[in-house]
Amino acid sequence: MAGNITFSIIKPDAVANGHAGKILDHIIQAGYKVRALRLIHMTQGMAEGFYAVHRERPFFKDLVSYMCSGPCMPLVLEKADAVAGFRTLIGATDPAKADEGTIRKLYAQSIEANAVHGSDSDENALREARYFFAEIEEVRG
Ligand code: ADP
Ligand code: MG
Repeated sequence: MAGNITFSIIKPDAVANGHAGKILDHIIQAGYKVRALRLIHMTQGMAEGFYAVHRERPFFKDLVSYMCSGPCMPLVLEKADAVAGFRTLIGATDPAKADEGTIRKLYAQSIEANAVHGSDSDENALREARYFFAEIEEVRG
């Protein structure tokens, strides 16, 4: 059965451009409850750890430096079928391919600076939530 928790990050481009409030409201209006939120300027080590699964990809180095380019906003979100629903809400990785009305279509700059992260499985949602919110009992699974 699909879980009710997903993990997101409002990425540095969206925070720097002043879109964080609008994106957060978009998420809340779509029915997600915010279970945890913080503002953090990631170190290189944190970004490398978060995206370790992509370390062999050609864009990894740029991705890490972009994720450390300014503060970002990690979020733990709750809704039925949270992971799949949230991926639909944010749209395709490349904003040029994202559906109309999705968060990436509305706010992303490029395939790299694409405004938001969304977990791709229940397992990764919990792992990612714990990475930023180790102190939170409810995301311990
Ligand atoms: P998603 O965030 O949609 O799950 P991926 O997990 O494939 O996408 O990639 C993680 C992040 O790496 C993307 O959100 C984006 O910021 C960056 N990225 C992905 N593909 C590319 C690419 N071809 N060039 C540059 N950056 C990319
Ligand atoms: Mg991904």
